[in-house]
Amino acid sequence: MISVEQALEKILGCVNVLEEEEKQVLDSLGQVLAEDIYSSIDVPPSDNTAMDGYAVRSEDTRGASKKSPRFLRVIDTVPAGYIPKCRLEPGTAVRIMTGAPIPQGADSIVRFEDTDESKRKGHLAEIGILREVEAGFDIRRAGEDIAKDSLVLSKGAVIRPAEVGVLASLGQSKVRVIRRPVVAILATGDELVDIGQPISPGKIYNSNTYSVAALVQRYGAIPKILGIAQDSESSLVAKLRQGLDSDLFITTGGVSVGDYDMIKGVLAAEGEIAFWTVRMKPGKPLAFGTLKAVDEKGTVRNIPQLGLPGNPVSSMVTFELFVRPAILKMMGKRNLAKPTVEATIKDSIVNTDGRRIFARAKVEKRKGKYFARLTLSQGSGVLTSMVQANGLVIVPEDKPGVKAGDSVKVIMLDQNEE
Ligand code: AMP
Ligand code: MG
Repeated sequence: MISVEQALEKILGCVNVLEEEEKQVLDSLGQVLAEDIYSSIDVPPSDNTAMDGYAVRSEDTRGASKKSPRFLRVIDTVPAGYIPKCRLEPGTAVRIMTGAPIPQGADSIVRFEDTDESKRKGHLAEIGILREVEAGFDIRRAGEDIAKDSLVLSKGAVIRPAEVGVLASLGQSKVRVIRRPVVAILATGDELVDIGQPISPGKIYNSNTYSVAALVQRYGAIPKILGIAQDSESSLVAKLRQGLDSDLFITTGGVSVGDYDMIKGVLAAEGEIAFWTVRMKPGKPLAFGTLKAVDEKGTVRNIPQLGLPGNPVSSMVTFELFVRPAILKMMGKRNLAKPTVEATIKDSIVNTDGRRIFARAKVEKRKGKYFARLTLSQGSGVLTSMVQANGLVIVPEDKPGVKAGDSVKVIMLDQNEE
């Protein structure tokens, strides 16, 4: 039995960063930039006003105050989006709206609040300036945000809403990113019935396909749902072959030592097994290997395949630990670790057989400190315990357990670092 780290290292050693693709800027959210982005323009394109007010010559405001306003002749109004036509001569001002380019001759802005405008009605022939301003006051300079020809975003950056906005501010509608992996998902088991279908005695609904597909989506990949394979070699092989155009193949169930657990055998026949069983709980019977796919031209491709245990909690926990980092690596992401916190545990956990325990817990933050309480059931078939939990408390394999009050490391399931 190998350790969690050894298993992860083997898996990551078999997955590669995928190719680039061109995407619409908004559709690239969450993907990794595959090119350096340089700007061909200044943003903003010209000096403009940061406030609604009056463009003035700062020297015309010398000595202005509420008690002794300086009166300037208003010669024009400039809304945002229009080029001012006039030039400021001494003693004049231009009414100007946020974002509008600065008229020639003006060197500063006096906000409406610092004029007597509010006390007047109708068209203004002149405006009372109620304060002094320095040259440059409330003016945003051309290229202040992004200078022409500068490097704006670097290859390898994760596209977040801010990156989408910056790309749009450059006028870019498309961007090159690493493509999202397609993840084939196959549930196995004669007992399984798909959702939306009537259930009969002895059967259960297939939940793994959906929890796994939801995780695939949450981490930015594209699920390819293959449905349910029966516990027979022929059914498994037929279904496996339907997913050979995927980048990663996930099966659930059929990896234990039961009479009908035939994933390992089929995997060995259709590809290669790298390991089976990991020193962890839940999730011990995890299988990993590669499936051999041969295309029309005879080119062989080895698709990484993870056989997750069938128990609904085990499949979710092993997904978080092993499938998530594999997906992130394929997407070109560099930070593959899920966020963890140190918490004080309120319950005891006994480690009987030297495996690393991942116990479901509800983590709360009080006065800057984290506290973890185990969910009521820790049975790996009790999926509602995952609903109650927002964390996985780690008990190291070389420890006999943890006591209430101990400090523990907790993987935070609902936090995502990229
Ligand atoms: P297995 O690993 O195939 O022995 O399955 C272990 C347990 O998980 C059994 O109780 C199965 O019925 C259950 N199980 C397996 N696959 C699924 C699934 N897709 N949805 C819900 N439960 C499952
Ligand atoms: Mg089964």
